[in-house]
Amino acid sequence: MQTFNEQIIAQVEKVLSTSKKIVIVAHKSPDGDSVGSSVGLYHYLIKKGMEVNICHPDPAPYFLEWMTGIDKIRNAEEHASEVNALISDADLIFCLDFNMMSRTGNLAEPLINATATKIMIDHHLDPSDEFDFVFSETTSCSTAQLIVDFISALGDVSLIDATIGEALYTGIMTDSGSFRFPSVSAHTHEVIATLMKGGVQPYKVHEAVFDTNTFDKLRLKSYAINEKMEILDDHKTALIWLDKSELKRFNYIKGDTEGLVNVGLSILGIQKSIFLMEGDGIIKISFRSKGEDNPVNVMANIYFHGGGHANASGGKWEGPMEEAITKIKSVLPEFD
Ligand code: 5GP
Ligand code: MN
Repeated sequence: MQTFNEQIIAQVEKVLSTSKKIVIVAHKSPDGDSVGSSVGLYHYLIKKGMEVNICHPDPAPYFLEWMTGIDKIRNAEEHASEVNALISDADLIFCLDFNMMSRTGNLAEPLINATATKIMIDHHLDPSDEFDFVFSETTSCSTAQLIVDFISALGDVSLIDATIGEALYTGIMTDSGSFRFPSVSAHTHEVIATLMKGGVQPYKVHEAVFDTNTFDKLRLKSYAINEKMEILDDHKTALIWLDKSELKRFNYIKGDTEGLVNVGLSILGIQKSIFLMEGDGIIKISFRSKGEDNPVNVMANIYFHGGGHANASGGKWEGPMEEAITKIKSVLPEFD
């Protein structure tokens, strides 16, 4: 694979062999891919006998709690000084599933100041130049798929076992919408075959991630669809917004709205889906779309301080919910 060409991999091997303290970081608001990639790479490097720590900006969502090694993640929200020390003492830092340091929130500053060699492995567009090695493959459905490619390029496929494999399978499965997005390639399925040969049983991962809903989560989802979804026919767009009081009513915990934005896209004729959720002083916005000629990252970038993939992006609004919705409705015609 071109992303991991022999010459550069030889350089990485050299760096790996001289590194004593390795840290793995990923983006804020962790998802299946950022967590699966981090934990999968962690188990692999540990198996190679290295000293490794995972440092994330904030805690992982509960639907990933079953993952072996999830307890190894130190998050900066709860362990700021420990995480900052690990980052500044590291001699090698893997930056997974993000394309620029600002995507790591509270870790951005310590990461920029860190003297370690920084290796980025990611599939988002427009990687920044803040890294020493940039393994960017925007056609890959997930970073976890790239981690399998990375391990393969290092000649270590035989080290992939069920523990490494389940974490990486989770990343690929969640970022590819369970193998249905256009980003899924023949190679994706080859990589899955590699993970299964290592001992992964896919049904176990699907059950662990998808059949562990709380009743509150399902009730919140039903409420959002039943009472809050607005269909903007003229723009083939579905819109849902939830404020703090609504989240509280259903005992919201982080991860409960995961996948909600995709529901709108399942409606016949709908081409865009937008979900807004009130957080602490900020409104987080998720954008999803269908079709190669229907990107949402442009809207996210121009109007909502965000970005992401063409068909899956995010952004934010600093101001009242009504204002955010008015803004969305006023700019949507530009993207019909
Ligand atoms: P989600 O809607 O799941 O939070 O994010 C969807 C996609 O958009 C993810 O690939 C994520 O990396 C990207 N994304 C989410 N929020 C932001 C943001 O604030 N800035 C940028 N550049 N990308 C974002
Ligand atoms: Mn990803």
